[in-house]
Amino acid sequence: MNTSAEKVNLLGLPKHKLEAFFESLGEKKFRATQLLQWMHQRGVDDFDQMSNVSKALRDKLKDVAEIRGPEVIYDETSKDGTRKWVMRMDNGNSVETVLIPDGQRGTLCVSSQIGCSLDCTFCSTGKRGFNRNLTAAEIIGQLWVARRSFMPFDHGSDRPITNVVMMGMGEPLLNFDNVVDAMNLMMEDLAYGISKRRVTLSTSGVVPALDKLGEVTDVSLAISLHAPNDELRNQLVPLNKKYPIAELLAATKRYLSGLSDKRKATIEYTVIEGVNDKPEHAQQLAKLLRDLPCKINLIPFNPFPESDFRRPSMNATRRFQNILNEAGYVTTIRTTRGDDIDAACGQLVGRVEDKTRRSQRYIQVTQVAS
Ligand code: SAH
Ligand code: SF4
Repeated sequence: MNTSAEKVNLLGLPKHKLEAFFESLGEKKFRATQLLQWMHQRGVDDFDQMSNVSKALRDKLKDVAEIRGPEVIYDETSKDGTRKWVMRMDNGNSVETVLIPDGQRGTLCVSSQIGCSLDCTFCSTGKRGFNRNLTAAEIIGQLWVARRSFMPFDHGSDRPITNVVMMGMGEPLLNFDNVVDAMNLMMEDLAYGISKRRVTLSTSGVVPALDKLGEVTDVSLAISLHAPNDELRNQLVPLNKKYPIAELLAATKRYLSGLSDKRKATIEYTVIEGVNDKPEHAQQLAKLLRDLPCKINLIPFNPFPESDFRRPSMNATRRFQNILNEAGYVTTIRTTRGDDIDAACGQLVGRVEDKTRRSQRYIQVTQVAS
């Protein structure tokens, strides 16, 4: 009998990798179809429940493989319906996953790393440092756990999760292969069948990885811009010193023009009082984005204890929005959800044992990215 550490966790294998796995066992490829449906559509993690798989194959699978989702250590629903899970991953660290219901839509905010190395000055995840990348099984495992918690589906809750955004902890483009495998499973008809328009990757702008992304997938894109000029963005998003705004927007355009359908990018702009919320910032932003097919999502800054930044007043945020609307942009203000359970953007911290020394972090990241 193999120990857990030696077993392949089938949860993280997209279809082509699962087929290769079965072929390596001397089995037919169609077994992958069966397994995908059992694991992802029906939430099954026990090989013995797989009634269309022979006893001999089930025994073989038990010896070499496992289906193991993250362990839920916290599961709370906020007054407004926002639900947050804290999930413990191997090695004791944990990440947070949030479900935001909104009418017929349910958006799951998924984490890609334990912590984040990019150290954006307004982000509590960044402040906690970086521990490691999540595996593909740990990324898709968040959707698996969330969806499974609504089973068996009944009265109207049969589609509790309609959208996924890679906007939890971590920078998804710095965990490229695992994130791509997990997103493929999200879109796979035999698994979750979520349309490419409803799976969104959010990035602070790792330009070469963005170009690579366009070669392998066609998910929707959110760009965390937060500032209309390099001088200000350098202060908020240190990665901007390596990949400045002009390069990031050019890469975003290339990505959009490579898609087979007409789609807009979402520009995310965390509005911070007295920092990037002035009318001239909005005017500059309107000018900057003129040639980019995009909509703009304003996120009033969510405070956290280690930060001196402040949330802008609703009036200041609306004034900012009006300038963009008048310039012809579709602009939304993200309402804060789940703040009674610390589930809002940038409040996700989990438990992160920082393995990087802050002074080294930026250097390490830029090496990974280049
Ligand atoms: N690393 C990726 C995805 C995770 S961050 C990225 O940066 O895009 C998801 C979003 O939450 C980003 O747009 C980020 O800028 C925003 N965010 C982070 N901290 C925040 C805070 N304190 N208040 C409001 N939004 C925040
Ligand atoms: Fe990392 Fe995104 Fe937070 Fe920046 S905003 S530190 S890239 S998680």
